[in-house]
Amino acid sequence: MSECKAYVTKAPEGGIEYRSVNITGEEGNVSLKPVLTGICGTDRGIVRGALPFSYDPSNYDYLVIGHESMCEVVESSSSEFSPGDLVIPIVRRPGHCPNCLIGRPDNCSDGDKHEAGITGLHGFMREQFQEFDFNLVKIQDKSIGDLGVLTEPMKNVVKAFEVFERVSSRSIFGNGISTLEGKTALVVGTGCEAFLYSFLAKDYGFDTTISNRHPIEKNSLEMCSEFGIKFVDTSKDPDFPAKPLDLVIDTSGDPGTILKYLRKLNYNGILILFGTNGRAPDVELTGNDIDHIVEKNITIAGSVDAARIHYIKALDYLSKWNRMHGDTMKNIITSYFKPGETSVFTQKPAGEIKSVIKWQ
Ligand code: NAP
Ligand code: ZN
Repeated sequence: MSECKAYVTKAPEGGIEYRSVNITGEEGNVSLKPVLTGICGTDRGIVRGALPFSYDPSNYDYLVIGHESMCEVVESSSSEFSPGDLVIPIVRRPGHCPNCLIGRPDNCSDGDKHEAGITGLHGFMREQFQEFDFNLVKIQDKSIGDLGVLTEPMKNVVKAFEVFERVSSRSIFGNGISTLEGKTALVVGTGCEAFLYSFLAKDYGFDTTISNRHPIEKNSLEMCSEFGIKFVDTSKDPDFPAKPLDLVIDTSGDPGTILKYLRKLNYNGILILFGTNGRAPDVELTGNDIDHIVEKNITIAGSVDAARIHYIKALDYLSKWNRMHGDTMKNIITSYFKPGETSVFTQKPAGEIKSVIKWQ
């Protein structure tokens, strides 16, 4: 039995409250307390009651929210973890399909999996909880500090690039000297995921642009400049892009915007769909669009979640970028909230890239 304060919603109806909860029957060989927890569009969607697929754990009439978390080990009977270690709890827990059984619940083939803080499993926004060691990834390089809380969003980006690698290997995707120099990537959106996508696209060697349909704050522009990424405000530059695109990654979930850039894809171009927005207006795919997709060998791939390997690789990238661009990179966390504050779940702070709750 474990009584503590937690951020609680009722899924899928929504709402948000910070109150005492008494969660019984949870097992684990590592006791944790959160250091930082991040808030993303999924949390806000659940709180708004806009994510019909979210649900409470069985035997509970509420759901502890939160899936982006960096925690400290308080007690451990696992030989792999000691008090004081910093860890990231894995969000998605396997079901029984072949992909889940081989450690790839991100590719679950029957939907019989759970996600902490989202579908049928309590999340990480609570003062303390227990986990089994196999659900934890250790932060080896503690110098990344608060950037550790970006591991969960970053692991999605690493997995999507695994999809890119698979798809792009069907033909020669790179240039004549086997690099991606001169190849163009567009990341749609300017939220946390979009920035992490653009950093990785740049790392791969793409000529990388990030876009939105409004201007962005000075700190975001500085981040673009530090990483060598272009920003386009499409309200001021409606004819963008002048040249065909090789890779488009969408974090907006807006069909109209996606279709616009699908139409700009080059031969062997790849569109990775990542953002979701069930409330966005519908658009029509035309016969000419189908011709364009077929004749140019264009691939459209969805990418969701990630597996343990991607959390580990995500930490490596965060560590590298912290060393190379640490002073700028820390600006990706745009606001810190105290436990108990709930407004951040219902209102996106102006200029937000990533808002976090600081627990200690
Ligand atoms: P976010 O901060 O809300 O990012 C969405 C971005 O898209 C914002 O910058 C938003 O701009 C921008 N946007 C919306 N409509 C646009 C349009 N028509 N044109 C250009 N930009 C537009 O959320 P996030 O945390 O970075 O996550 C990004 C998306 O991925 C969300 O939809 C989230 O639900 C989804 N997601 C997917 C997975 C997965 O596994 N596939 C995992 C996590 C999150 P403004 O808000 O500035 O207007
Ligand atoms: Zn499965």
